[in-house]
Amino acid sequence: MNNNGLKNIKLDSLIIGAGFSGLYQLIALRNRLGFSTKILEAGNGIGGTWYWNRYPGARCDSESHSYNYYFDDELLDEWQWSERYPGQEEIIKYLNYVVEKFDLNKDIYFNSRVLSAHYDQQKNKWLVVTENGQRFECTYLIAAVGCLDNSSSIIPKFSGLENFKGDWYHTGNWPHEGVDFKGKRVGQIGTGSTGIQTAPIIAETASHLTVFQRNPNFSVPASNRPLNSDFQKYLRENREKIKKMIQSNTNGHPFLFSECKIFDVSEEEREEIFERAWENGGLSFRGCFQDIAFDKKANDMAVDFLKRKIRSIVKNPEKAKVLTNMDHVFGTKRPPIDTNYFETFNRDNVSLVDVKSSPIESIIPKGIKTKKEEYELDILVFATGFDAMTGPLLNIDIQGLDGKKLRDIWKDGPKTFLGIQIAGFPNLFTITGPGSPSVLCNMIVPIEQHVEWIEKCLGYMKKNNINYIEATQGSMKKWVEHNEDVVNETLFIHGKEHSWYFGANIPGKPRVFMPYAGGMGRYKAICNDVARQNYIGFKLGNNDKGKTYIPPKLSVDILVEDVLMTKKL
Ligand code: NAP
Repeated sequence: MNNNGLKNIKLDSLIIGAGFSGLYQLIALRNRLGFSTKILEAGNGIGGTWYWNRYPGARCDSESHSYNYYFDDELLDEWQWSERYPGQEEIIKYLNYVVEKFDLNKDIYFNSRVLSAHYDQQKNKWLVVTENGQRFECTYLIAAVGCLDNSSSIIPKFSGLENFKGDWYHTGNWPHEGVDFKGKRVGQIGTGSTGIQTAPIIAETASHLTVFQRNPNFSVPASNRPLNSDFQKYLRENREKIKKMIQSNTNGHPFLFSECKIFDVSEEEREEIFERAWENGGLSFRGCFQDIAFDKKANDMAVDFLKRKIRSIVKNPEKAKVLTNMDHVFGTKRPPIDTNYFETFNRDNVSLVDVKSSPIESIIPKGIKTKKEEYELDILVFATGFDAMTGPLLNIDIQGLDGKKLRDIWKDGPKTFLGIQIAGFPNLFTITGPGSPSVLCNMIVPIEQHVEWIEKCLGYMKKNNINYIEATQGSMKKWVEHNEDVVNETLFIHGKEHSWYFGANIPGKPRVFMPYAGGMGRYKAICNDVARQNYIGFKLGNNDKGKTYIPPKLSVDILVEDVLMTKKL
């Protein structure tokens, strides 16, 4: 019983979030380990980020044949994507198919946003409370909250929004009934991956679209297309090969980075390679030369090519100038891919406002006021991004050992061991948390890897009568240092003041590179090594005695050696 006289629902494990990670974690823990398990989901349906992000043009930038689960052959046989990149609606259809197939709905509590999760040392249990007052008690808590969840969507603090006479929306919290732009003057703020996807679609029906751009973005055509029967045949015949590739390469995508360096080829050949990569489209453009991500001079060549492409598409030279006025290194911000983004600026009903030179001062009742001008608008669309990676976790009041708050522990930036656990927060697992490759990858690959790692870990604990696991302070410290070392070897480091990877989009957020930049293949090898060595770097033990934590019998409280991090790999 709790203070209100209500019963806590008792479970072995509880999962927060019904996106790709939460759904698969439910399958792994309930169906394969036999744990009593439930999911708490804030939305009224499954899909996580895809449930909320249903803005016009929402589409994944991972290729569809790599953006599905690979754990079940039957499921792979049964599902066929219709396009090269899956659209939001088709992704939701796919996940509903999975839910049905594995009978997941009965174990999901919808409309159950988690407010708090407190670890009870006496009981070795997590006590979890939702917004609607439900209370749960579980041994293992899995935060499958995603990196860009709905709670972390950001609307910049413009004064006057409350007085705006029209309607306004954030793309990450889009109305399910849709928005009718017909005959409307629309103002769109933000030109990240989202803004670049949505502008061309909004422009098709709005009477006028005004794009307010602060920093321009590089973008490569997606070259989206329907998938024909030849491609489906290729997939059936090469499934194992594709699976192996995406699960062992750097970024989980179904392509390999070229081994060719940019200055090893003639100018003519370089141009030809860039052209081919541009025509092929998509994220693989980044990998058309091996050194684009590592060598600034090589990167400059890619920047030059991309700017020339934009100038060749955009007919108005003033607009082209504003669209090519980038001051970030290509790839240090998440590179968007698009369908007709730059072409959209050739439409008569689309204008571009440079809010870098003339910032937005306020929202006024009839629209937007910049330093130079006022714009009359009927609808505002905020494609202004997220408090990424840490936001989804810190928006929940999480308290670990001795009531210590995660918000305090992470005040100088996130610290984790493997992006999976945090010292001081026993039995709490994060899927694709800070310190894991996550957003640098095709997300499904790290999701499956994390879910299966957690499953294996909890299976090991069950078998050995262990019910307590906590990353040590030492291993966490080492992992944080290792993360810093690997990012320093890349050009990502130039994104410190530009990129949400560093938290640079949130005033006051510590500038810490949040994802792991060492590559998915390497990361997976480290995780496997840790498991093979009976979870080196974690404290493990049994805490059934109803006492506060006692140093465990099976403790492996040793620092993870440097050798584990680097030399062996
Ligand atoms: P984002 O990349 O953070 O972009 C936010 C945009 O809002 C930027 O253009 C930013 O300008 C602008 N902005 C923010 N505050 C502003 C202000 N005060 N005044 C003017 N402009 C302002 O967010 P996002 O586009 O939603 O994308 C976030 C991530 O979601 C992506 O990087 C990607 O990982 C994921 N995503 C994936 C897909 C996909 O799979 N296809 C699609 C969409 C999103 P500055 O650049 O000047 O800061």
